[in-house]
Amino acid sequence: MLPPRCHVCHLEPGQSPSDGARGKFVLVYFADAVNPPPGWVGHPAGAVWFCPEHAPLGAEREHLASDTALRDIDAVLGRLPRRLPEAYR
Ligand SMILES: [Zn+2]
Repeated sequence: MLPPRCHVCHLEPGQSPSDGARGKFVLVYFADAVNPPPGWVGHPAGAVWFCPEHAPLGAEREHLASDTALRDIDAVLGRLPRRLPEAYR
């Protein structure tokens, strides 16, 4: 399992601007995700981490395959101005 790191903004829980946001990272299992067998150690294919702010972007697309969903998210974000303040980078 990979440690939480937002696919969208690359934020990690330790870098979160507020302690309240820690631990609220969401692992979204997309349609092509496979359930790893018990005892398996690794990051499940098709599962992607999102920070609390971007979790809805993933959750809204969990019925899609991960590559399709991530492309769609990138396309959506590409049309929006960057909103992340300098402090987040
Ligand atoms: Zn994020």
